[in-house]
This record gives sequence, structure tokens and C-alpha cells, in this order.
Amino acid sequence: MSQLWSNSDDHSRLIAGEIVEVIPGIRRLLAPNPSLMTGPGTNTYLIGSTDIIVIDPGPRDDLHLERIVQAGGGNIRYVVVTHSHRDHAPGAAPLAQATGATLLGFDERPDFVPDGRVAEGDMLVSDRWRLEALHTPGHSSDHLCFIADAVQPGQPRVVFSGDHIMEGSTVVIGPPDGDMADYFDSLRRLRELEPPAEVIAPGHGLVIFNPDEVIDIYLALRLNREEAIFRSLSGGPLRVSEIIPMIYSHLPDNLLRQGGRSIWAHLRKLHQEGGVSSPDRDDPESKWSITSS
Ligand SMILES: [Zn+2]
Repeated sequence: MSQLWSNSDDHSRLIAGEIVEVIPGIRRLLAPNPSLMTGPGTNTYLIGSTDIIVIDPGPRDDLHLERIVQAGGGNIRYVVVTHSHRDHAPGAAPLAQATGATLLGFDERPDFVPDGRVAEGDMLVSDRWRLEALHTPGHSSDHLCFIADAVQPGQPRVVFSGDHIMEGSTVVIGPPDGDMADYFDSLRRLRELEPPAEVIAPGHGLVIFNPDEVIDIYLALRLNREEAIFRSLSGGPLRVSEIIPMIYSHLPDNLLRQGGRSIWAHLRKLHQEGGVSSPDRDDPESKWSITSS
């Protein structure tokens, strides 16, 4: 059977400022904001041709926004963000203003004020793809994924995953807005989609063509990490800062803080499940211990 879509993507196609049609009717434009946390930078997606939905305009970068406007050719109808983090959302309001598009997001935040809210199950329709919103808290409480089905048959089911799933790395879960228990639930929801996703278009990195496998790896890595954190407490109560060197022996200094937040996020989940206790779960530097049964 011939395939209408290409099932490959590579780093030579991930160049800031270059438009790449990753799936028919879905174009990617990489923002020029590479960093430790954003990898190659933020992926902005343009969906459709005559009625375009833009997902994640990225940072407020004039040149990047100009490129989006140009690629949109006057046809951008909606600008939507997967979540309000600063590498995804600050460009959204100026883009909506420049194009007359409607700005959408999960809710209002200090730095992000949408024209309208997108809730679980809401549909956004372009000329070539229909998008359904899925509320996927975990990385942030306002995180949305979008399940895309083509108007014409013959295209794969695509999920725009924002920072819920990235290509080539795991995701930072930073409490209190990030929540590890929610994150596990949101990963499992994506894994159980019916029909399943065939492609993930992430907020950072290349297109993922084996979604189920990647989600299973994500879940296994997290569970592994969580077990190691639990075991680290077997010798007695510890603070997050004391657990870091027991869990991360190879982490460069500039990532240790994120590692600590991730450990804290796991401890809060374990606390919620009754496995560990702490005088104050909102304070990472309080002592954590295994709950005696
Ligand atoms: Zn984020």
C-alpha cells in the first residue's frame, strides 16, 4: 500500500527559520531559541492552507513572528498555545494582533491572556485538519495536547504534544504547577487513545513516528526513577538536596536544579499515594521519609 505521508524526519530539516511540511497540510517552523531546556528550539506548527491554525508561536521574537505571518499568507484564523510557558506563548498575542486571528489557550495566566478558552473536547477546524483538545496536566496545569484527524482520508492521526512529550529527551515536571501524578495520568491517556496516535508532533525536536513505544519508554523511565527515589529513603529521612547525588551521578551542574525539582515532583506523587511522608510537601527542603506501615 502506498503511503501518502513520509514517515521520516531528520535534523537536517530542523533549522531555525525554515518551513518544513512534516505531514501534508502541517508545516513546522523552528523558532531561533535553542537552549539546554528547549533543545533545538520551539516548534511552531501551521495547520491547514486557507484556514490556518497556528500552534505555539514561541517566544516574542520579531523575526520568527514575521516568518509565521508570511507563511500564513493572510489565512491565519486561530493562534493557540499548548501551555503558557515562556518558550511557547509570549509570541501568541502579538501574532494574533498582527493577523487578526483569535487567540486561544486553556486559561488566563499573568503573562497570557487569551481571547477564548479551550477546554477538554473542544474542536478547532482548519481546511485540512480537525483538532480536538485534550487537557493533559502534568508538565504544567494548563497543558493541552491536540489530536488531529485529516479532513480527507489517507493521513495519519497526529498528536501535537507541546511539552507533554518531546523528541530526544524527557520532560521537566516542576511543582507546584507541574504535577507528577497528573503527568503519569496524562501520559496513560495519550497511550490509550482510540484510535491510537500514529505521529507525535512535539513542541521540541523531530516528529515522532512510534508514539506508543515512546510513551511506554517515558512511563518506564519515570517508574524506574521513582523506585530509585523511594529506595534512597531506606536509610532514613532525607532532603531533596541530599537525594540529588544519589539519583543523578552524571548530571551537569547546570541541570542539577531541574533534577531536584523532578525528585521533589516524584516525592509529592509518592506522598499523595501514601508511600512517603514529609512535614511539608510544599517545601522541597523538608525531610522526606518512607511511611511506616
Ligand atoms: Zn513548558
